[in-house]
Amino acid sequence: MSRPLVIAIDGPSGSGKSSVSKAIARHFGIGYLDTGAMYRAVTVWCQRQGIDLGDQAAVAAAADDLPLALGADPNDASVELDGEDVSEVIRSSAVSAVVSAVATNLDVRAILQGQQRALIEAIGEDWGGVVAEGRDITTVVAPDADVRVLLTASEAARLARRSTELHGRADDDTVAATHDEIVRRDRDDATVSEFQVAADGVVTLDTSALSFAQSVAAVIAVVEARQHNVEDPR
Ligand code: C5P
Repeated sequence: MSRPLVIAIDGPSGSGKSSVSKAIARHFGIGYLDTGAMYRAVTVWCQRQGIDLGDQAAVAAAADDLPLALGADPNDASVELDGEDVSEVIRSSAVSAVVSAVATNLDVRAILQGQQRALIEAIGEDWGGVVAEGRDITTVVAPDADVRVLLTASEAARLARRSTELHGRADDDTVAATHDEIVRRDRDDATVSEFQVAADGVVTLDTSALSFAQSVAAVIAVVEARQHNVEDPR
């Protein structure tokens, strides 16, 4: 049997990472790992347990012992916390507003990065491969991935996309309301991960002017070019 295919996709909020990553996993018939869901789940768990998000050691201990189950099926990427489906709760604006406090905790990062490496290996074996998405997958979690892509888009495009996703429209008011979730959050997150500029060997895909289908096709082309090079290294 051939080695599992590992595809790493990073990018800022609103770059289309999650939907594109799931579509790529479906296309190649492999598993899916949403690492952002892990930071979000730690946030929700701490809030429910009454743990102060600023208490670095307590939050790290919670991350280390999190009762989290992530489904790797890109058609049903379930997120269960202590047996409860939290897939919607973790994506609420209230969680987006505070998740960076957890993500900038370096002890938490080290713990979750270790869990993510183990999950990439386990899902890869079960599914013959995995698409793992986040902020530091191409650089820290899986720098040896077969394919590494940084999905970017202009700030205006990202704001409009997330505003439409959250509010069903992208007029001036809804875009302003979305600003914290995109611009401020990325600024905070960027203090601990570089996901705005591609590292060496990482392919940058700017999706500002691309439709969803075009973004998916562009990533598929990167994967296929890479597979072709591996099979025929002339
Ligand atoms: O991708 P998503 O918006 O769900 O990620 C939620 C948060 O998790 C990000 O704002 C960031 O703080 C954190 N994150 C991270 N490293 C990753 C994935 C997500 O710091 N690999």
